[in-house]
This record gives sequence, structure tokens and C-alpha cells, in this order.
Amino acid sequence: MSIYLDHNATSPLDARALEAMHPWLTGVHGNPASVHRYGRAAHAALEVARAQVAALVNAQPAQVVFTGGGTEADNLALKGVCSGAPSGRLLVGSLEHSAVLGPAEALAKQGWKLEYIPADGEGRYDAEAYGRMLQQGGVKLVSAMLANNETGAIQDVKHMAASAHAAGALLHCDAVQAAGKLPLDFTDLGADLMTLSAHKLNGPRGVGALIMNRRVMLTPLVDGGGQERGLRGGTENLAGIVGFGRAAELAKSESNDRMAHARALRDRAEAGIAGLPGLRIFAAGAERLANTLQFGIAGLDGEWLVMELDKRGIAVSSGSACHSGSGEPSHVLTAMGFDAATAKGALRVSFGAGNTGQDADAVCAALKEIVGSLGKRVAAVGW
Ligand code: PLP
Repeated sequence: MSIYLDHNATSPLDARALEAMHPWLTGVHGNPASVHRYGRAAHAALEVARAQVAALVNAQPAQVVFTGGGTEADNLALKGVCSGAPSGRLLVGSLEHSAVLGPAEALAKQGWKLEYIPADGEGRYDAEAYGRMLQQGGVKLVSAMLANNETGAIQDVKHMAASAHAAGALLHCDAVQAAGKLPLDFTDLGADLMTLSAHKLNGPRGVGALIMNRRVMLTPLVDGGGQERGLRGGTENLAGIVGFGRAAELAKSESNDRMAHARALRDRAEAGIAGLPGLRIFAAGAERLANTLQFGIAGLDGEWLVMELDKRGIAVSSGSACHSGSGEPSHVLTAMGFDAATAKGALRVSFGAGNTGQDADAVCAALKEIVGSLGKRVAAVGW
């Protein structure tokens, strides 16, 4: 048995995206910067993909800057706005992914005053605390994610962007987990910058995009041949970008159905584990991504449970894939006010289009079996 329930870590490449990529991986094809027919064909394919990615988030193609993934786009947003500008205050959500926290910490070492927006126990940013932080003045940039990779909790980024603008700040939104799972409208959201990553929406790994409002001034991270309007030098990963474009197009037309399917499986799994002793569902009171279920079972370590499920052929995660195996408690759950032991107990199950009801039932049955056998062992040794 082999069941993949870790779609928030990465999702399988859609066969239709792979088919679109194929011609750009094989045979002769050109560099999009070349003027001959091969180059012109490559350039045309690049621009089709740009339009497809823009359409997914209701942006203009000229607002899309392709990058080598979500982490690079987050770095470009934060460092691109801040480096080169006189240092000021930088507000970053306490629940953000390390792709945002990393560049924010690097900027703090360069003199930026980094402050974290607190969250409540359901994994939502504290709007009042955020408002007070903005009122103190001097904020240059806010970075807040749309949906959390661990809990799936969704933030009111539209409101956060309006407040940031009223205080004279820009807002960057990491929408890596939201894209393909929620309807996304860059213009309506009001963010100045927004990060996307192809492999979270059944595209290839190693490709992403920064969507930007054209009034934002960015300093590139990679200088070179002037590609991506001078914002990201280097010959484009054309096959990857074409796959991203096709995956974005499919996500736009199919995400409602995909998420209805994922929600049914998530709710089935949530109902299936309901009787487990000491169960706590994280962010249960918040609006959450339809495919995501994060929970803990009192007294059990999340990473140990991941390995026990892995022995039974079921792949889940203990939190963010980037921190798995670190032994550290989830910073997301500690920011939500949980103690280290509770945070270390977290297990994340994230469904995708290829999963079935049997998959949801299998993870519930396996968890019951693990917890049940543990109970017998505890009784046998008289703990
Ligand atoms: N932001 C969030 C919220 C993520 O979940 C991830 C990946 O897990 C990233 C950024 C990084 O994206 P990538 O893996 O494309 O670098």
C-alpha cells in the first residue's frame, strides 16, 4: 500500500503539464532571447505561460516575474523592496514560512527593525495588535501569508493590505499554499507583491513567480542578461515555466471541483479520527484550506507518528516539510500559544486530486491501530 497525503509539501506533476513541457525538454529549441525562429518560438511559449499564470490570479501578464520557486520569489519580494532603501520597520507574520522568515532575518542583520505580527490560538493574525503596530509609524513593508502551510488557516490579507497602505507601507503576500486551492484575485486582494510556486498546484518543482504591482521598485537578487524585465537575470527555465503555465490554467478551471473533492476527504478523515483519545485539531475555529487537516494526539510525538504511518505506506507530515526531521517544535503552533510538547505532537494530512475516500479511511484506521497497540503495550508494562 502506498498513499500520498502530503500535498502541501509538494503535489504530483499533472500529466497534462508534463505533456506541455515535453517539447521544451527534447529536440532543438531556442533561447527566448534569440531573434531567430527558434528563439521567437521559445519567447512565444514563455509569454503564453506568463498569461496563464497571470489569469490564475487576475493580474496582467506584465506583472508576472518568473523565479526559481516560491522561496526565491519571497526573497525577491522582501530583499528587493528593502535592500537599497533606507532601513525602517519590517512587519512579518509570526506564522510565515521560512521562505519569508529567512530573508526577513537577513534584513534584520542589515539594520532593518524586524517585528512579528502575533496570532491567536486559531492561527489567525491579531488584527488589533497589527493595527497598533502600524500606528507606531515607519513601517516600509508587511509580509503576510494568505493560507498557512501547516494549519491551512486563511488570513484576512485584503484587510491587512488596506491597513498597510493607510499607514504608507507596502504589503507582500505569500500565496504559495492558497493558489489553486482558493479563488485568487491579485487586484482585489490589494497586495503589492504576491508569491506563487508551481509545485503546490501540480506543476513542476523549482519554478515560481512574483506577481507585482508595477509601482513597486524592486532591486533584483540576480543581475545578468536583463531577463524578466531586469528583475531576474539568467536564461529562463522554459520547460518548467511552460509546465507552470499549463498547471495554472488547469488549476483555474478545475480548482472548485478539486477543492470540493479534497474537502469531502478532509472532513471524512476529521470525522474518522474524532474518537481518538487526547485529539486536538489545530485551527479548527478558523477558515481553513479545504484539503488540510493538522492535529495532535496528547502524549504522542508527531515525527514518531509520521514514521509509524510511513511503515504502513502512508505519507503525511509533522508540519512544514522544510522543518521535518529537525526535532524542533513547529514555530506556527508555538506562535499560536501552544507549548513545545503540544507543538511537537502535530501531524498534517493534506489531500489532493488523486486521493480517494479509501485513502482517508486508511489513515484513520492506521492511526487507530497505532494508538490502540500503544494502549495495549502501556497496559502490558504497567506504565
Ligand atoms: N511559502 C509557503 C507558504 C510554502 O508552503 C512554501 C513551500 O513549502 C514556500 C513558500 C516555498 O516554496 P518553494 O518550495 O517553491 O521554494
